[in-house]
Amino acid sequence: MSQQYESMWRELGLDLTAHDALLKVLAQGYHDIFLSQANRPTGMDYFNFVVSEVHGLRIQELMDAKRQGRKVVGSYCVFVPEEIVLAADGVCVGLCAGADFATDEVEKLLPRNTCALIKSAFGFKLGKVCPYLEAADMIVGENTCDGKKKSYELLGPLVKNLYVMDLPQVKSEKGREVLRSEYWRFKEEMELLSGVKIDAERLKKGIDAVNAKREAVHRLSRLRNSDPAPISGLDSLLINQIYFYDDPARFTSSVHKLCDEIEERIAARNGVFPEGAPRILLSGCPMAVPNWKLPWIIESSGAVIVGEESCIGERGTRNLVETTSESIEGMIEALVDRYFDINCAIYTPNPGRLDDIKAMKSEYGADGVIHYGLQFCQPYQIESIPVEKTLEQMSVPTLRVDTDYSMEDVGQLKTRIEAFIERIK
Ligand code: SF4
Ligand code: SF4
Repeated sequence: MSQQYESMWRELGLDLTAHDALLKVLAQGYHDIFLSQANRPTGMDYFNFVVSEVHGLRIQELMDAKRQGRKVVGSYCVFVPEEIVLAADGVCVGLCAGADFATDEVEKLLPRNTCALIKSAFGFKLGKVCPYLEAADMIVGENTCDGKKKSYELLGPLVKNLYVMDLPQVKSEKGREVLRSEYWRFKEEMELLSGVKIDAERLKKGIDAVNAKREAVHRLSRLRNSDPAPISGLDSLLINQIYFYDDPARFTSSVHKLCDEIEERIAARNGVFPEGAPRILLSGCPMAVPNWKLPWIIESSGAVIVGEESCIGERGTRNLVETTSESIEGMIEALVDRYFDINCAIYTPNPGRLDDIKAMKSEYGADGVIHYGLQFCQPYQIESIPVEKTLEQMSVPTLRVDTDYSMEDVGQLKTRIEAFIERIK
């Protein structure tokens, strides 16, 4: 791939040597973690292809879109409504990053005790290795946790066009008003950026495209409640990660195609894990590409992950946007309704998240919950304690794991997870 896309990467200002090194690590990791899994559905071939071209063909598509006058918008959070980006004929891409990069440079700007996700986002910028970041015409940050909102003050001067969206911290009428006014402001900003006036017809199209994408991953989630598990948690996570990068319509049809195959597998009792394998629900911080460490440890220890209560998972994709209104006002209101329901730990209080965990646990037949907290992530680490306590009181085995992107704790995590799986058994 390197030679074919070299001039495009150079044009984007990437550091070709560092970028090459990143791609090599990514390809090796993907080979060892994903391609080595036994009996994967053939529908995963499409997603293998997407990964193999994640910095190639997909970036070329973005550059082609830009040449046609369309705008690329990068986002760090699932509160940023892709529907509005699509309505302005834009392309929305996720920028959250799941690997350490240029850490020495990052730690000159950010305190060491910043979560790995934020550090990684900075590392990909400072190390000049992310073509999505460089291709973006606008980058949307959001005032969520303290780490993110303060770090955007430092990211602003490093990137071309940072737009910061304010977000509510409390689920109150006032909070809803904040989201409503911010979505209207974002619509205007997208109109300015793209030169496209967002009318009801355009917004309806955007809503339909994202709803269709969500419906496809909902279908996949439902199929994961079968035993034997018809698809691994690793592959499901990968699909949830690709959700943020791929062309929406192509992604939607590829997930449905995979689901057709999975339905046949379920009928034939053809699983990727033996029947009765311990079933785990993962809950906690988002796992951005290529953060596969914890799911890999869990699944290589003999348990299968059957759901993710995470932004790169069901927290991010739950609920569709209502499509009953035909006016632009009604549609924006429907967006506010849908997004306001996201149970992110930045809300206080946030009881809905625990309800979601309990519901997912029973819906997917999970035997236990592993709570994943990134070190220095106060919102999720603080919530993990009451989550564990409540679930244990309900006799749901729960394990709290706090980690980062380094591989230093793999041995220790494996020992703890194996002991947890024994407990479940
Ligand atoms: S965890 Fe919260 S802040 Fe982070 S991506 Fe999800 S919704 Fe946004
Ligand atoms: S993982 Fe936690 S600390 Fe890091 S950006 Fe997300 S909410 Fe903030």
